[in-house]
Amino acid sequence: TKARSIDPGQLAADLKAGKRAALARAITLVESRKTDHRRLAHQLIQDLLPLTGNALRVGITGVPGVGKSTTIDTLGSNLTAAGHKVAVLAVDPSSTRTGGSILGDKTRMARLAVDPNAFIRPSPSAGTLGGVAAKTRETMLLCEAAGFDVILVETVGIGQSETTVADMVDFFLVLMLPGAGDELQGIKKGVLEIADMIAVNKAEGDGLTSARSAASNYRAALHILAPRSPTWTPPVITISGLANEGLEHLWEQIGIYRERTQASGEWQEKRSRQQVAWMWDMLRQRMMEALKTNRQTADRLKTLEASVRDGTTAVSFAVDELAGLMGLEE
Ligand code: GDP
Repeated sequence: TKARSIDPGQLAADLKAGKRAALARAITLVESRKTDHRRLAHQLIQDLLPLTGNALRVGITGVPGVGKSTTIDTLGSNLTAAGHKVAVLAVDPSSTRTGGSILGDKTRMARLAVDPNAFIRPSPSAGTLGGVAAKTRETMLLCEAAGFDVILVETVGIGQSETTVADMVDFFLVLMLPGAGDELQGIKKGVLEIADMIAVNKAEGDGLTSARSAASNYRAALHILAPRSPTWTPPVITISGLANEGLEHLWEQIGIYRERTQASGEWQEKRSRQQVAWMWDMLRQRMMEALKTNRQTADRLKTLEASVRDGTTAVSFAVDELAGLMGLEE
């Protein structure tokens, strides 16, 4: 698409009117690598800014097979039935659209995929985690402007992606599998520290007993951690995404979290912190990009890196020269 053929005013109006095609087109702009597309996208987001921020943003993680897509499909359907508009986004830096994204795949969310009040968007493909996250944040804002009041951001715990998603949502939900005594193995250190709630999935029928015992193990593990909030202790619950059990309770808990942290100011404080961190993220990325694409610095960068590697140029000397080329005075 030629950027000139896009009418940003019309696009904003269509998006506000809730036209899905407009939302999809706006997201494509956000994800585009073309500079003029991105510029348009950023202007669009700026224009839509007053309409953003009103959704409940929930991150969901868990190992492959834990039941993320099953649970999101069921939970999302419960929510649209209750009158919500639900957007499902995914953060998966390893995904390549053509190779098929593991997450946010419509075929894995059969009910939501055909639900007129749901919108599913797979992960932006490729690139660094930072790049994928930036696009997902912008997509989240577009969905909010289009009237979605629940945003579910799905991720698998690869690398830093859990922390990255936790940093862009209001509430971070960790799904766990019931296991036989070894629940605490294989959990990535740190995930307990960022969880606002743990839900042990597949807690139905024969699985109920082991799910409950897993839940009490997680409760004990969480108990050891220093409390992060004076108003919220992450609960550990059992659910069945498949049988739609415990999901009402799950959503209630998130509602209680919102009420309490809004009353205490933690909610707004977290959002503000996330906004500023996002700005610095984006700025850092932009500067790195400039360093690598600027004709003057790009060439020198390569040769200086080589001479730093073989020890003939001091790091400080190389950095001074590159900073000089970028017009940065000391
Ligand atoms: P994901 O990789 O985390 O998205 O997991 P999926 O949602 O694809 O689920 C993986 C497998 O677990 C599928 O075969 C699901 O049918 C099954 N599954 C998901 N949720 C439940 C549940 O609550 N109970 C049971 N028994 N199976 C489930």
